[in-house]
Amino acid sequence: MPSVTNSNIIDGKAFAARVRESVTADVARLKSDHGLTPGLAVIIVGHDPASEVYVRNKVKQTAEVGMHSVHHELPETASEAELLSLVEGLNADPKIHGILVQLPLPKGINEAAIIGAIAPEKDVDGFHVVNSGLLATGGKGMVPCTPLGCMMMLSDTLGDMSGLKAVVVGRSNIVGKPMAQLLLDANCTVTIAHSRTKNLADEVRAADIVIAAAGRPEMVKGSWIKDGATVIDVGINRIPAPERGEGKMRLVGDVDFTGAAERASAITPVPGGVGPMTIACLLRNTVTAACRQNGVVL
Ligand code: NDP
Repeated sequence: MPSVTNSNIIDGKAFAARVRESVTADVARLKSDHGLTPGLAVIIVGHDPASEVYVRNKVKQTAEVGMHSVHHELPETASEAELLSLVEGLNADPKIHGILVQLPLPKGINEAAIIGAIAPEKDVDGFHVVNSGLLATGGKGMVPCTPLGCMMMLSDTLGDMSGLKAVVVGRSNIVGKPMAQLLLDANCTVTIAHSRTKNLADEVRAADIVIAAAGRPEMVKGSWIKDGATVIDVGINRIPAPERGEGKMRLVGDVDFTGAAERASAITPVPGGVGPMTIACLLRNTVTAACRQNGVVL
């Protein structure tokens, strides 16, 4: 795939469009050569506004690339047993190759139990413990979409990452830990920082690759970035923007973009960086899952 770096800004939107193009081509080939239409089921419980936007986008893009797209909306009052029974039905449905349960789930539903009920080979979010275990032991599981998108942009920008120092700020199961694992697999020397890390600034200053996934607006200062480092900002934070009018908000990442862009050799913006890549990787994972479940090698 050609580079999408424009000056030093990594254009996640353009990169995601290319990933979707390649997914569209693969879906067409699977249909024509193998009679196989990859299918993704997305489940949402309740009416969290941010989740509804994400789910709408996922369902729309799944259909746009030619996949079979199924959308289940359960009321806020749905029980864990109802959700489990829906997941079990989808596990058994041969037209469905990927199942995504939009998080967070309403209080009273055990997220770990629901994720654990998804058949690991259909867990296109890569959150099932079997998939985390496979990632940690060098096996072939489903890789979580956000870290996968970050890795695609990093390898496009840097090529071989062997021996580079990487710091991942954040240690969540869905972003920080799998991200660190992927960087380790790419032969980086990896530091994982978190809220108890002493001297975060020094850890970041030492890094050739900085991944910010803390959920703290503009916490990583421009002055912390080593000259020539590559910066991937995963954070999505909504902050007040009085300059846009009363009550208006804007999105910022976990990195002070303006300051960091002066030093970084490449950096992702927010919005328009990691975000678009996450959905594109969900589509890519669904194709991967469909191929594996049917013994097809593309
Ligand atoms: P979590 O809240 O689950 O984890 C945040 C991590 O950051 C924790 O490990 C926490 O440390 C660490 N942290 C918090 N404050 C600090 C601090 N001051 N210094 C160092 N580390 C700190 O968040 P997620 O991993 O789910 O998400 C992280 C960000 O990425 C969020 O802004 C989220 O919205 C965004 N995101 C974006 C996606 C995309 O598609 N672009 C997808 C998923 C998430 P500790 O463990 O010690 O508490």
